[in-house]
Amino acid sequence: MNDTLLPGLYIVATPIGNLQDVSRRQEATLRQADVIAAEDSRVTAKLLNHLGIKKQITAYHDHVSETVAENLVDMLGEKAIALVSDAGTPLISDPGYKLVRKARAAGHLVTTIPGPCAMVAALTLAGLPTDRFFFAGFLPAKAKARADTIAEIAELRATLMFYESGPRLAKSLRALAEELGDREAAVAREITKAFEETVTGTLPELAERYADAPPKGEIVIIVGPPGDRPAASDADIDAALREALETLPPGKAARQVAKTLRMSSDGLYERAMALKDEA
Ligand code: SAM
Repeated sequence: MNDTLLPGLYIVATPIGNLQDVSRRQEATLRQADVIAAEDSRVTAKLLNHLGIKKQITAYHDHVSETVAENLVDMLGEKAIALVSDAGTPLISDPGYKLVRKARAAGHLVTTIPGPCAMVAALTLAGLPTDRFFFAGFLPAKAKARADTIAEIAELRATLMFYESGPRLAKSLRALAEELGDREAAVAREITKAFEETVTGTLPELAERYADAPPKGEIVIIVGPPGDRPAASDADIDAALREALETLPPGKAARQVAKTLRMSSDGLYERAMALKDEA
């Protein structure tokens, strides 16, 4: 046990590119911790070298064996353990969640030394509404799962945020444009690094821009909330229901039209029945 930090788990954010972003508190915690638990010891060693800290690093990710996790939790009664990930805030698309749960369940001190997080930094750069936002992490790699995930959050009245990598950017932007239409969006890349850039445009514009030119580096995609669309008129609803009834029974036709016109299905089934009887 050391004299300066109480025993417990210290969640320490680290820079997302620019090493000058280490705060005094982060540096002091890393210096004073008894143990540093890190996602990748080679990456964390570079940061510790930069700070002139020599300390043993213990590997931690959420898939370590129960024994490794339990050993760390047992140590928390006597030692200050600093948890870091490769970059940014631990637990945010990074390991740590299970360790925090276990440490809390065992009654240990759990505290955070906050700092850089690519999602928050990107949100400040995009020029899109910040009052409500939804962080969706990485989109799935497979096309169907990716489309399903986007459809699931399409109606949220919030700015949407995704982590991404250069090679996958074009596919993700295309899928987002297909599912969400021409919403305003931004691609924030290499934040705090030498080649930081934020490119804004509609989703189709961004999808086209990056279609054949995968950029290098780390990326956050930010998508503005859905605009206020005018409510569908009764004539539009009837036309959509008639078309759907050509191939579907009334219940399914009503559900499909509710989805297509992005409206409540209340009363649509009754209207579909009435139109079917008229036909
Ligand atoms: N825990 C980290 C945080 O707090 O941001 C995120 C870790 S996640 C495994 C890595 C992803 O974060 C990258 O693929 C990228 O989407 C995003 N990211 C990290 N650093 C970034 C940077 N400097 N610029 C843009 N995006 C970044």
